[in-house]
Amino acid sequence: MIHQVQVGAFQLSAIQVWDVRELPAPEFLKGVQGEHLAAVAARQPLFFSAAQALLFTLQVFVLRRAGQVILVDTGDTVNRMGNVLEWGLAALGLQPEDVNVVFLTHRDADHVGGTLNAQGQIRFPNARYVMSAQELQAFREDEKRAALFHACLAPLLDGEKLEVLDDNTEFLPGLTLIPTPGHRAGASSLRVQDGGDTALILGDTWHFAAQITRPEWSSVWDEHAEQAAQTRREILAQALEQNWVLAAPHIPFGGLGRIQEREGQREWVSCGQLFTR
Ligand SMILES: [Zn+2]
Repeated sequence: MIHQVQVGAFQLSAIQVWDVRELPAPEFLKGVQGEHLAAVAARQPLFFSAAQALLFTLQVFVLRRAGQVILVDTGDTVNRMGNVLEWGLAALGLQPEDVNVVFLTHRDADHVGGTLNAQGQIRFPNARYVMSAQELQAFREDEKRAALFHACLAPLLDGEKLEVLDDNTEFLPGLTLIPTPGHRAGASSLRVQDGGDTALILGDTWHFAAQITRPEWSSVWDEHAEQAAQTRREILAQALEQNWVLAAPHIPFGGLGRIQEREGQREWVSCGQLFTR
């Protein structure tokens, strides 16, 4: 499934690479209480199952402008749905060779696990891969993820394909690395600006739509829960005030949305159009 939205001259597409899963809220969100969960589920029923489980998926985002193709994260490698990312790119008229830049938000398998293809070759051979300098350093030192680093990052470094970026670097016109710490200390997001429009493609700052209304509910995957909640509050305030598009890889139905305030509470409103199932 592919959803799309326009951000100035950029076309932002979301390729869904996982099916939609149902995750029980008390197991995956910290500090959830039953009545509060019910209130959030009533506010945003699209993002909950009938039994109030959290709906969860994975999208990979593609940005295109005037022949430039920028991929944000790679998904995991060939998964049980098959090579869905290649299918999605083909539906957009693209081959892996057409990707110019791959922006890596953070060091998790569902984001950097797909840097190589099934043959073990660099999957996007003509791309420059870019990543936060801080996050790359943390990845090198992360013993829990040593195997992932060697499988997915080392070949890029060996092939001199990976560039590091400092926080707040505009590495192409309109495209800036924004630090969004919390989920990982060096997690970053990609700000897209053109013609007065802004989108922020998030590095797992949110995992669930419920956290829009309740930014204090960190997921069990957030390494620095307090910091993650603070980052969500700051982004929410800016996104609401400036009508940003947020692109959240794990929120279902495209993961493209804006923030709306209703009855004093914030909620996620999906935006964009369905391009293809
Ligand atoms: Zn993730």
